[in-house]
Amino acid sequence: MPRTVITGGAGFLGSHLVERFLAEGHEVVAIDNLLTGSLENIDHIHSDQFRFIKQDVTEYLYITGPVDNVLHFASPASPNDYLRMPIQTLKVGALGTHKTLGLAREKGARFLLASTSEVYGDPQVHPQPESYWGHVNPIGPRGVYDEAKRFAEAMTMAYNRYHGVDTRIVRIFNTYGPRMRLDDGRVVPTFVDQALLGEPLTVFGDGSQTRSFTYVDDLVEGIWRLLNSDEHEPINIGSQDEFSILQFAELIIQLTGGTSRIIYQDLPVDDPKTRRPDITRARQKLGWEPRTPIEEGLRRTIEFFRQKMNQAPRQTRQRFEG
Ligand code: UDP
Repeated sequence: MPRTVITGGAGFLGSHLVERFLAEGHEVVAIDNLLTGSLENIDHIHSDQFRFIKQDVTEYLYITGPVDNVLHFASPASPNDYLRMPIQTLKVGALGTHKTLGLAREKGARFLLASTSEVYGDPQVHPQPESYWGHVNPIGPRGVYDEAKRFAEAMTMAYNRYHGVDTRIVRIFNTYGPRMRLDDGRVVPTFVDQALLGEPLTVFGDGSQTRSFTYVDDLVEGIWRLLNSDEHEPINIGSQDEFSILQFAELIIQLTGGTSRIIYQDLPVDDPKTRRPDITRARQKLGWEPRTPIEEGLRRTIEFFRQKMNQAPRQTRQRFEG
């Protein structure tokens, strides 16, 4: 049975990956320091093939036994979170990537890095192909995330070239779905929360900036295919449905059946004006395309948030702790 280590395994994406790898017959070890992840995301997993370790991956990682794959997904990923935790964000992208690559090298495991569309910064090429080097402000507030991930890509390629580690790099575009944190500040949970509460939706700037939104199951499929391919070069995984944020706010109001109005707030510093992946490589190399229509993905996500908001606060069992 293959054995896979997933850092950030208690996070939004990490927990969906844990489920997928268990379903594929892997033994899974999830590592998370619970800085932005939560035990609630994995509390429903009762497999004997699953183990959780509470640890900060910027420190030395010691895993007993063989490991076949290491997936490095630990990092704050919402602009709000990385503005609040700039040093941790830089450390997990830099030191955490070094430690997880070291683990993969030691075990002879395949390594997959969760990179991001943020490596393109505020792009001057649209849509963004993998060959585009990006337009990043290194000292701006988002630089802590963008540069950490750019460093992480450089480190991953160095381990591939100099140590022969079998590596993969996925550049993830805006992804949404169940288990995003309601208060993480990203546009999907924020707008859905506001719409369900009947509060105004806070559009930043004039709302003309664009994003394309990928449903989490589609992303997980792309990652699964990438891991099982031979591609060492980065691959974009993301949707082609590009919306202005104002259009997106209107769609959320419509799908929640709410009556909220829209209010405008200041655009955050260095907020990218456009973003949409060129997915030619993913199509050619992985045979991957997004499958979930945005209305369908958003319905599932809205349902998740609706239930979550109706739940009385509950104590998450601490069965994984220790
Ligand atoms: N945004 C917004 N209102 C909000 C939260 C976000 O208008 O309450 C905008 C934000 O300025 C950005 C887009 O939505 O242009 C996506 O923001 P998010 O934080 O989800 O991620 P980003 O794509 O910027 O990393």
